[in-house]
Amino acid sequence: MRILITNDDGVHAPGLRALVSELTSLGEVVVFAPEREQSCSGHAITLHKPLRIRDARIDGADVRAYSVSGTPADCVVLGCLQEKEPFDLVLSGINAGANLGEEVFYSGTVAAAMEASLHGIRSVAMSVTAYRDCDFRAAAQFATRFGPACTTMDLPPDTVLNVNVPSLPPDQIRGVRVTRLGRRSYENFLERREDPRGVPYYWFSGEAREADATEDTDIGATQAGFISVTPMRFDITAYEAMGGIMSQLSAMGLVKP
Ligand code: MN
Repeated sequence: MRILITNDDGVHAPGLRALVSELTSLGEVVVFAPEREQSCSGHAITLHKPLRIRDARIDGADVRAYSVSGTPADCVVLGCLQEKEPFDLVLSGINAGANLGEEVFYSGTVAAAMEASLHGIRSVAMSVTAYRDCDFRAAAQFATRFGPACTTMDLPPDTVLNVNVPSLPPDQIRGVRVTRLGRRSYENFLERREDPRGVPYYWFSGEAREADATEDTDIGATQAGFISVTPMRFDITAYEAMGGIMSQLSAMGLVKP
């Protein structure tokens, strides 16, 4: 099996190293990851400057690795172009910090997995629910079983698997739940401060408040100590809204009947 590993925390992040060292037992692992942290870069690609690829080393692992002067999505596009043989699986992570609810739209980790699915490759985004002092062991061990399993899993086209793992010792993980996205909202989201010259600046901060964290959600599952697997897809069309919009536009005389 050929596995492409990327992330948004950068090629030297400990979560990527944890994933690489577990997965080398499964087949050929190749790393294309951003040269520096790209968290919250979403699905951006680099259009207005050149992309550079440099050889990189992952400590403690004998794999081919490249650092890319771009975003996580760039890494997946480049990885697929540069490598002659196709990949069977793309794993993005392990991210330090959960990607739950609407965070999936900001996440570079999830975007890289989404990009891979747009290239027709089975893909998994993997995150742990802590930013500091992360325990990546449970997530890395789960990846060795879940990764190969999902390459043969029967899934609808363009499905991306978003996995969040509690940052707990492996023996404290209670199991696995298949979940839907919950909702979070942030308080004091953008903080206004002043620089030493009295000029205001703004900094994203604030605490996440769970707005929908019932036990069938990704938030609820990870809070209860379960690994959360959320199947997601590229098509976010609100199909149920289409008819209503059409009839309201018709009533306004904006569309021909
Ligand atoms: Mn990140």
